[in-house]
Amino acid sequence: MYRRLLEDMLPAVRERLQQAAARASRSPDEVRLVVVTKGHPVEAIEAALAMGLRDLGENRLEELAAKAGQVMPSSVNWHMVGHLQRRTAPRVREFASLVHSLDSIRLAERLERTAPEGVPPLRLLVQVNVSGEGSKSGFSPEELFWALERLLGFGTLRVEGLMTIAPFTQDEGVIRRTFSDLRGLQEEAAERFPEFRGKELSMGMSNDFELAVEEGSTIVRIGSALLGERPE
Ligand SMILES: *Cc1c(COP(=O)(O)O)cnc(C)c1O
Repeated sequence: MYRRLLEDMLPAVRERLQQAAARASRSPDEVRLVVVTKGHPVEAIEAALAMGLRDLGENRLEELAAKAGQVMPSSVNWHMVGHLQRRTAPRVREFASLVHSLDSIRLAERLERTAPEGVPPLRLLVQVNVSGEGSKSGFSPEELFWALERLLGFGTLRVEGLMTIAPFTQDEGVIRRTFSDLRGLQEEAAERFPEFRGKELSMGMSNDFELAVEEGSTIVRIGSALLGERPE
């Protein structure tokens, strides 16, 4: 079932992504597609892998760990896109190739303190709550530079860029501004901190990925537009 669904949905998503890139005079190769498999069974993962999609995302560590245990480790680049609990967060190093959701200094400190000797740095994106909604985690734009200054000093963490979630709204202007603001913050960070090499911008989901690509996204996180609504 998931194989047929993906065969139906993937070409259309790819086409929309290409058109959005073209509108911004960008190459679609600059945008990585992460398939968010949260809430779907392991069959969805197998279908994605069968279609050559290797970047898969989950928003809960327990679910990520359970699913990672059911597929060949080397076959998937796992992306952790959801909030990490400080207590269990250290396990993320075992699974994730990229954490999109570093949202507090205390979390970073815990990840730094618990890093096993000799491991490669954990690649991560700093989540920014651009829109300021109370329901969203992440640093406020005002806190970001203070946070980056700290984060860049952690030897076992490697900041690869920024991530945001746009407000859930029909107002395209609001969504677009959220994405362009994130890009502006990234540019400012690069100016302020010579050691900041965070080129990635993780922004865009099923409802808004075209706007995100037009505004410079390098990673889109797409669930329902590829896999249908999540089963409850
Ligand atoms: C669930 C989720 C997505 C994917 O959402 P869709 O609307 O299904 O594309 C992307 N990013 C994060 C952080 C998520 O939790």
